[in-house]
Amino acid sequence: MAPDANTAIMPTDLLRPDLLRLNASPAGKEEAIREAAQLLIAAGCIDPAYAASMLRREAVANTFLGHGVAIPHGMVEDRGMVRRSGIAVLQVPGGIEWNPGQTAHLVVAIAAQSDAHIAVLRRLTRLMQDEARLTALFTVTDPAILAAALGEDAPLTTPTTPGSDLTERFDWVVDYPTGLHARPATAWVETARASAARIQVRHGDLVADAKALVALLQLGLRAGDSVVVSAEGEDAVAALARMKATITRLTAREKADAAAAAQKARAPARGWTPPTPLPAVPGIAASPGLAIGPVHVLPRAAVSVPDEPVPLIEGGDRLHEALSLTRQTLKALADDTARRLGPSEAAIFTAHAEILNDTDLVTLACQLMVEGHGVAWSWHQAVERTAAGLAALANPVLAARAADLRDVGQRVLARIDPALRTGGAPDLPDTPCILIAEDLSPSDTAALDMARVIGLATAQGGPTSHTAILARTLGLPAMVAGGAALMELANGTPAILDGQTGRLHLSPAEADTADARAWIAREEARKAEEEARRGLPARTRDGHAMEIGANVNRPDQVAVALSQGAESVGLMRTEFLFLERGDAPSEDEQYETYRGMLTALEGRPLIVRALDIGGDKQVPHLQLPHEENPFLGVRGARLLLRRPELLETQLRALYRAAKDGGAKDGGALSIMFPMITALGEVQALRAACERIRAELDAPAVPLGIMVEVPAAAIQADVLARHVDFFSIGTNDLTQYALAIDRQHPELAAEADSLHPAVLRLIRLTVEGAERHGRWVGVCGGIAGDPFGAALLTGLGVRELSMTPRDIPAVKDRLRGSDLSALKDAAQRALDCETADAVRALDGDAS
Ligand code: PEP
Ligand code: MG
Repeated sequence: MAPDANTAIMPTDLLRPDLLRLNASPAGKEEAIREAAQLLIAAGCIDPAYAASMLRREAVANTFLGHGVAIPHGMVEDRGMVRRSGIAVLQVPGGIEWNPGQTAHLVVAIAAQSDAHIAVLRRLTRLMQDEARLTALFTVTDPAILAAALGEDAPLTTPTTPGSDLTERFDWVVDYPTGLHARPATAWVETARASAARIQVRHGDLVADAKALVALLQLGLRAGDSVVVSAEGEDAVAALARMKATITRLTAREKADAAAAAQKARAPARGWTPPTPLPAVPGIAASPGLAIGPVHVLPRAAVSVPDEPVPLIEGGDRLHEALSLTRQTLKALADDTARRLGPSEAAIFTAHAEILNDTDLVTLACQLMVEGHGVAWSWHQAVERTAAGLAALANPVLAARAADLRDVGQRVLARIDPALRTGGAPDLPDTPCILIAEDLSPSDTAALDMARVIGLATAQGGPTSHTAILARTLGLPAMVAGGAALMELANGTPAILDGQTGRLHLSPAEADTADARAWIAREEARKAEEEARRGLPARTRDGHAMEIGANVNRPDQVAVALSQGAESVGLMRTEFLFLERGDAPSEDEQYETYRGMLTALEGRPLIVRALDIGGDKQVPHLQLPHEENPFLGVRGARLLLRRPELLETQLRALYRAAKDGGAKDGGALSIMFPMITALGEVQALRAACERIRAELDAPAVPLGIMVEVPAAAIQADVLARHVDFFSIGTNDLTQYALAIDRQHPELAAEADSLHPAVLRLIRLTVEGAERHGRWVGVCGGIAGDPFGAALLTGLGVRELSMTPRDIPAVKDRLRGSDLSALKDAAQRALDCETADAVRALDGDAS
């Protein structure tokens, strides 16, 4: 590479010998940063106050570059404290933990007035491609070697990957039927990252760092492939044992998933068979139903990302911010999906978030930025190059993951520059069409005009891609993986899409279309019958009616909940309005959402839960202090009482919605508060409600509390005097009663809400409420378990609110039961000694 202005000035000006310290052993990250800052202060590069700025930076950005190198630097606004550019290097042979699971051996502290340090960063990112040379610098004793490595800018030889292993190793033959895809690979990465040791996976000549998701996926491992997993470093033996345990533990799950998928495939496809054979494009079934209409081929949206270089530090800031905001959105999506649909459906979002932690991907983007490209361009290139590598592996699982990678990449791109947001409504013909596309991101799918799209067929993607999941949620017939043939169809070609068999039948004759219409009519009649059953009340055989609500957070989810048989919304988790975005929604935005919920419910009851932030639901943009034990900290009502601006904005929006809804809609609104422990909290929250209600001259609405803490259950008789209703959050009540973190990877499975101790707390709550004529609902996960719902009914609970898709089975179970038998079963459950004994009563309780 030709030397440039940066390389020319660097060795003498930036990397002076007095700025290098070898063999340092700081006690931790903060000390390391201070030590490096001290070198810069002593060399006259920075004001002493810049050290604090560097530490502040750590709280808002990740300065770990990857591969043992960290690049701490100060806040952008403090650049005035830099007297002249300089770079201090602290070599820490023993390593220090920079972030959990990330160990830094070279701390490269940057003080830059301009882009003068660009050459060092360029050099660093290049060195990262030569792991052996970089690692040698962690312990080198001659400062000249370190200075030369960072100072010279000769091109490195591109590392070929000789298939060598680290000191400890084991062999394994891939026995995951669908190979190593993102979900198990994420578990591998998590295990590997928990160890300080270097761990790698080798397949033939290809070697991947076990801590890098994309690198692992790029191995393209299929069932039957032999790999060597090896490790080196302090805890190598233990680390390898843990890796082996994770890798082999996943086999059973992978085999079960594959068997379930195969069984599904073997099940007779209840799709449509054309009366006369028709030419067809085969694909994979993604969402059932038949669509008849002309096709419309959407040309692949070529995202044109301009290359607009910005100063490197600014580019790094923007990339970091975009990555953390996207991570935050994905975490919110995973949390919401886990609460609504269960952890396995949420896993894909967790895997997506893991892609963003991939140091190779981020390093590649940084390298491109260091080479002088714009941040959006560099990120886009890094994603495209990596996705192209995955897509080229001729492995359908990985090809689908390439689509996932592009989708996550697009989310980040839109954060870097909102003008690059794609997925706006595509140009569609006026008459309804079957939309054909290369692939559709969830945002593309969500933006579709449903009046004009009657079916979806994509050339790429898999049945678990978001497009498929979203199409099923929207009830839109869809097929995926139709291949290139799809894209070659002429616009307007008449077709019949069968989402059940995954085929696009082309150019049907009149008789075929008539037959397909008759099929659709039969299916609609069958569905209507099913829905009518869901619409029946959950009345026991002896006439006791339970109210069945849905846990729904957004107005557009209400219709699905009602179609499943919901009679109300018993829990709207409003924190997700905050979690899914990078800032807090304004009072007006919140008002619109609450009004939207009331309107969609057409007078049916709506219980809105005030913000439940804290615990597992962290909102970075609220800048809450770090807590050692967030589940036992400032969470739910405790936070609302400490952050009046959050509480009051929300209450104003709610009371305005109640007022504007008038008697019909507004009268249906109730407000409840999460994580109540003490009477004083209830009194303070009620007082805030009353003050805001009076200011707005709004109608009074029922005010309830969640019973999620054992203290609240035990004192239910006291609290009931001051509230209009209770809703038991069994997820938290179980966690606090059994002292099991609800997210704990090993223990969470033991946190059974049907544990007799939890049932006794529920019974206490009902008794306390009854003393003051209050009603009790349950909105935790156990309400959606048919047996759990039966026991809760027997315990005297009056309302159950659950994930919409659980409603039909719960209603069926209650309709087939007698209240008297349920009361008996509940009494027996209270007397049981263990959760297993309670579960064993299933079958008697009806
Ligand atoms: C619960 O704790 O049971 C509950 C419904 O609240 P969340 O799951 O949102 O904490
Ligand atoms: Mg809770």
